[in-house]
Amino acid sequence: MSSTLVYTPSEEITSIHAHLVESFHAGKAQSIEYRREQLVQLAYLLQDNTARLVESLMKDLGRPELETYLVEIAPVISEVLHAIKYLDTWVKPEKPGFHLSTIGLSPALHKQPKGVILIIGPFNYPIWCSSAMIGAIAAGCPFVLKPSELTPATSQLLAELFPKYLDQDFYRVVNGAIDETTRLLSLEWAHIVYTGSGRVGRIVATAAAKHLTPITLELGGKSPVVVDSNTDFELLAQRVLWGRMVNAGQTCTAPEYIVVPESAQTKVVEAFKKQYKIFYGDDPKKSESFGRICAHSHWDRIIGCLEKTQGRIVLGGQHDRAEKYIAPTIVQDVSLDDPLMTDEIFGPILAIVPVPNISVALEYIRRHDCPLVVHAFSKDPKFRAYVRENTLSGMFFENDVIVYGASVVTPFGGVGASGYGAYKGKYSYDLFSHAKPCYNSPKWRDIISGLRFPPYTPAKLNRL
Ligand code: NAD
Repeated sequence: MSSTLVYTPSEEITSIHAHLVESFHAGKAQSIEYRREQLVQLAYLLQDNTARLVESLMKDLGRPELETYLVEIAPVISEVLHAIKYLDTWVKPEKPGFHLSTIGLSPALHKQPKGVILIIGPFNYPIWCSSAMIGAIAAGCPFVLKPSELTPATSQLLAELFPKYLDQDFYRVVNGAIDETTRLLSLEWAHIVYTGSGRVGRIVATAAAKHLTPITLELGGKSPVVVDSNTDFELLAQRVLWGRMVNAGQTCTAPEYIVVPESAQTKVVEAFKKQYKIFYGDDPKKSESFGRICAHSHWDRIIGCLEKTQGRIVLGGQHDRAEKYIAPTIVQDVSLDDPLMTDEIFGPILAIVPVPNISVALEYIRRHDCPLVVHAFSKDPKFRAYVRENTLSGMFFENDVIVYGASVVTPFGGVGASGYGAYKGKYSYDLFSHAKPCYNSPKWRDIISGLRFPPYTPAKLNRL
């Protein structure tokens, strides 16, 4: 398998877009049967080629096979199957509740495909972060998928597999970097789903505004874990260490830092030490359960952050640029104004921040960018509810991390700096469908609404 990525030529990008627009207007995807067939094809694409996708992600990210299957391939196949199962229900017109204002009008929301969609993906989960395509197919929308240039093996494989499984009149991969994405963004789309950094998110939002294109921004940030003294520390260490280190820390929903009462920091550190050895043995570099950083530019950025910290490295810290390796690293005694707390680390470093009390932590979270996820670890449901009610985040998770990414019945998305809009399952279908309110007014209805017609006589006024 070659890992040389072939960029799509600029003029081809324009003609792909024009072709998809034509295909959309030709109306083939009005057929629910057609959409279902294409969803089945997508499931086959993933199922038949799991081994090749695992291999390409191993090349791009050094990611272990089991990890790729569990956090990337299996949840997406499951979402496709869910869409196939529920498509007939989703496409049905929705009847709103009764109200006098629409009496006799037979109101109903009819779903219509919005048009041609652009999906721009990041490097860290090339398949999972492309899952908006499931909703696009279900809704009857053609799309262009633009995967990241930083995962050349996987992006090239997707370009190879699409024509073998999916209708090329409707679903296309465009590969490339900034120039190609800029070209895509100059065109008119019915909706753009962008997953990546806030910096590029702003570029996407600006370009979309020119065409009044609605967008969904799936961004990152610093997701905290708020820990109570009354916590199962072993459970915390097992789940949080996994969540921080899976995909070598390159996960948008990964916990970036832990805020813990000062008196409990030692217990937390001891629990991590124990778990660390269970997960990675004596030398994580030799472990087959831990991946690598995607690119040297990201490696440099992460090590730059680590070098500036005033905290104390208690686990890991070793690194090797040639291998793009950074050991799973835990830093304790990190202060709230430490350089590790400034930007999203997006690497295998977990900061432990001791605080005098929980109010200090919640105040800090509220006054900084809205995280994608806030986590609360405690045996006490009141503590967890208190954290939930007193912080604003895209999502909230009690006593665990990340696994809700596999949910197909709840929307996935951020708020504020972590993005806007959300999708998954039916929410994806709804994102790409226009729910058009439709009415029918029979002649008899003017018994109720005939008052509207001039002349506006005093007699009519008296009837109000
Ligand atoms: P990125 O912003 O560097 O790149 C994302 C995409 O934008 C790529 O396809 C890239 O080709 C394109 N791009 C890059 N520069 C561009 C430019 N100047 N103009 C136009 N397009 C450009 O993001 P990344 O480094 O690949 O991904 C990491 C970020 O994504 C992290 O912040 C992470 O938290 C976030 N993320 C969020 C989610 C989520 O669901 N909320 C999921 C995964 C990753």
